[in-house]
Amino acid sequence: MRLMICSVLLMMAFASCKTKVQDKEAVLNTEMHTFSNYEQVTCKHLDWKAIVDFDHKRIRGQATWSFENKSKAQHIHFDTYALGIKQVKVNGKVVTYNLGKFDPVYGSGLSIPIGENDSIVSIEYQTGPTAIALQWLTPEQTAGKVLPYLFTQCESIFARSLLPCQDVPAIRITYNADLQVPKGMMAVMSAKNPTERNPQGLYHFEMEVPIPSYLIALAVGDISYKAIDERSGVYTEPCMLDKAAWELSDIPAMMKAAEALGGPYKWGKYDVLIAPPSFPIGGMENPRLTFATPTIIAGDKSLVSLIAHEMAHSWSGNLVTNATWNDIWLNEGYTTYFERRIMESISGTSYNDMLWELGYQDMESDFKDFGMKSPDTRLRVELKGRNPGEGFTNIPYEKGAVFLRMLEENTGREKFDKYLNDYFQSNAFTPMTTKKCLEYMDEHLFNHDEALRKKLKVDEWVYEPGLPDNCPHTNPARFVAVDSARMAFEKGGMAKAIQTTAWSTHEWLQFLRKISHPLPADKMKDLDNAFKLTGTGNSEIADEWYKLCIASGYETAYPAMEKFLASVGRQKFLEPLYGEMMKSEKGKGMAKTIFSNSRSNYHPITALKIEKILKGK
Ligand SMILES: [Zn+2]
Repeated sequence: MRLMICSVLLMMAFASCKTKVQDKEAVLNTEMHTFSNYEQVTCKHLDWKAIVDFDHKRIRGQATWSFENKSKAQHIHFDTYALGIKQVKVNGKVVTYNLGKFDPVYGSGLSIPIGENDSIVSIEYQTGPTAIALQWLTPEQTAGKVLPYLFTQCESIFARSLLPCQDVPAIRITYNADLQVPKGMMAVMSAKNPTERNPQGLYHFEMEVPIPSYLIALAVGDISYKAIDERSGVYTEPCMLDKAAWELSDIPAMMKAAEALGGPYKWGKYDVLIAPPSFPIGGMENPRLTFATPTIIAGDKSLVSLIAHEMAHSWSGNLVTNATWNDIWLNEGYTTYFERRIMESISGTSYNDMLWELGYQDMESDFKDFGMKSPDTRLRVELKGRNPGEGFTNIPYEKGAVFLRMLEENTGREKFDKYLNDYFQSNAFTPMTTKKCLEYMDEHLFNHDEALRKKLKVDEWVYEPGLPDNCPHTNPARFVAVDSARMAFEKGGMAKAIQTTAWSTHEWLQFLRKISHPLPADKMKDLDNAFKLTGTGNSEIADEWYKLCIASGYETAYPAMEKFLASVGRQKFLEPLYGEMMKSEKGKGMAKTIFSNSRSNYHPITALKIEKILKGK
């Protein structure tokens, strides 16, 4: 057939073309989401010199990489994203490089010729205006409104927009950095950090513990430091410093619980940077310095489980790292389980049960959205050729965590804890695949008991969509009380009769999630008058309340909701609210107006996601 002949010819042409230029031009590895030939030529250490230029919103730098050419390759390939490459030197000599065609998801491959004995490549470059890893804020977009601010977010494949690198989680590098930032500003990285500002804006950083590229991180701004104990402290804008240090004062207790479970903390200091409001995600586990959203500063320590989560990543993720983004559940599932164990230790079982239940509800909501048979509900997800960001759903987090909880309940806590501790110690600083993880589990948790593995449905949990029937699920006692109060209110009771004094944020979330959507206008008014929910400073509660307001057409709350949407950049809150508005014609108009007014406050990743929602994708 003609079609077949055609495709055979095409394949032959492609094959011959590929053999000729294979080494010279970087070819995209769709499984690993990289142009780099990291298996043949492996980067080991980065020496980064850079100037952070707020006037032009760009970083000009020189990335000097030490590498090991194990297979005597003739080229080293890097990932880049919209970088302007000025000059490339190999072992001190200027060379001609090749920058491949730009792909909007993966960027461009940068190919540099090397000799057998070369070991150092130096790339002079500047970041582009579409650098996804960077968010530049004006002073008005910060909490203190004094100085501009810059922060990076490199997970999953955005480090390549900050600097040329082999942007895969499967290899690890150490780094030094020398940065020039505007005078008077503080710079911090995922490295050994200063606690005082340098008057000239000159900073030197060292990260001696090897990390994957997605954990390179930088923040520059009006940032001060306050210690919590010898090992931990908070970096944030001065106006937030005391509040943040109080809110996070349980970090030493959390660390004690974490070390009891995972073994000794291997990163030296553990500090937290509370970022400005537009920070797009909850937190990022940058080693030595977690970046976190200010929305966790609720004034009552009720949202600090997020810090337990990021701290847990010091073991699951940063120490034992997913080899590919398909294995993301190894990072996020283990971390979510670990986070709950830390919270159980510091807040008790009745509190922790609420976290498990809210997580279960998040997982159920994804099952509903994707469909129980969707391949994206498997723990080991297939992201080949896709944007790896698509793998960050509630499935790897919550289904992964509840899988480990099932294993713990069936093998016994003592045995499971020993397995977990051994897993982190034996596999420290190595990439982990799902297959390797399950082999380790067979040996160290099941003692090769095939019947037990089958009974626990391990393969079904990991490789099949949906949820196996041995999934643990308990109804927290504290939510039983909330549910009965809600039902009494729905059946005609008054809001003031609901006893909420002992409620934490989690009880409120259960109440607002489970109440009828829409709720009659008089009930909305009654709730709002009794508890002043409109304008609440607790972002988790605000998010659930405004969703209910949109569903119920409760317009009194709209001005406060618009303010919330303009000031908070966390995707977790923005996506459901915009999604809810898009359900009605009137809401669609409102969503578009709010987005055009607020867009400049959103991180580029967030703005793209909201744009998709507004286009109905
Ligand atoms: Zn995480």
